[in-house]
Amino acid sequence: MKEPLQVSESEKWHFEQGPVRPPSEARSLLLRVSRHCPWNRCTFCPLYKGKAFSLRSVEDIRRDIDVVARHLDTLRERLAGDRLDASVLALWRDHLPAAERAPFWAAALWLSGGLESVFLQDADGLIAGPVQLRAILDHLRKTFPWPFRVTAYARSKTVLRYRPEDLLALRQAGLSRLHIGLESGCDTVLRQVCKGASRAEHIMAGRRVRQAGIELSAYVMPGLGGRNLSERHARDSASALCAIDPEFIRLRTLAIPGGVPLAQEWLSGRFELCDSRELARELLLFLQSLDAAHGELVSDHALNLFEDLSGRLPKDLPRLRSMVEAFLVLPDERRCLYLVGRRGGVLRGLADLQDPGRQAAAAAICRKLGATPDNVEEICRLLMQRLI
Ligand code: SF4
Repeated sequence: MKEPLQVSESEKWHFEQGPVRPPSEARSLLLRVSRHCPWNRCTFCPLYKGKAFSLRSVEDIRRDIDVVARHLDTLRERLAGDRLDASVLALWRDHLPAAERAPFWAAALWLSGGLESVFLQDADGLIAGPVQLRAILDHLRKTFPWPFRVTAYARSKTVLRYRPEDLLALRQAGLSRLHIGLESGCDTVLRQVCKGASRAEHIMAGRRVRQAGIELSAYVMPGLGGRNLSERHARDSASALCAIDPEFIRLRTLAIPGGVPLAQEWLSGRFELCDSRELARELLLFLQSLDAAHGELVSDHALNLFEDLSGRLPKDLPRLRSMVEAFLVLPDERRCLYLVGRRGGVLRGLADLQDPGRQAAAAAICRKLGATPDNVEEICRLLMQRLI
């Protein structure tokens, strides 16, 4: 890795966790290696806007690990094999000094999640550098001597600052999986949203991760090309993913929060959002172009049009395509019911419409909001704001 980054030493150490992790890391111990995002320019991303990036020192991170280990030991001793009870835990926590409560709760959540994985935060776990990360991983493995997964978000640009042997050493030290936001495989889309990485860089970085034996979870953002680039976004994203062939392809659909640069583009008419049928057609084209991928397609985000669009590639592609096709031929009233039920949080996929209880819940939201086929897209955009 080239130039070293500045570490901001905390004058007084305290345990820290960041606010963001992938949905699949809900049961992980969150270990904060750096604060916020070192790039912070993607025009669709609200996560760290206005927040300065900084690294945490290895020493502070070691202390985080040690304090969680201490609470974990105490918890195991006090529980002595009993089941975790949230109200008892909350009572124990509230009797601790203020500075001990966060690491206690982190240890308790990790224990309740089975102690199976650790997620290195925030937006780019690799940015700490290979030597520092190695030291953190060594300390983690020494302190918690059982098998568990270690994962992190990473930017393709940062991966490319690592030599293949650095990545291999990290894998040997216990880094199991990286989550990389490709968002798109189309250079025009990537430039438009200021992703800071090209298609070629995404492919090179993804392959380097896989060659090091680190699992790759690659994110694509349906809708990011807007109406104009929808087709190219679908085809180029699929072909980039086929060239990388990651273990996991994850979907996370575009929704535009207020305050990000893309919101200005949208409000001024320079960016046109896809409606739900255009989004479904884009997804279908994406799935039709994904034949050379062999990983798992995962749709584990509440913003996705179908949360059950998951399966093994390429075996399940016909089933996945037929799910999207079924949406595209829905009569208007039925499509309105599905969309409101989906965006209102009572339906995960079209199959849920067969459940009378869920269907009734979706119909109740439609009545409450006055949703019709004519206004459903607007209503759904508002409902999606809650999920960003
Ligand atoms: S790199 Fe990730 S966290 Fe950083 S601005 Fe882009 S999308 Fe947001």
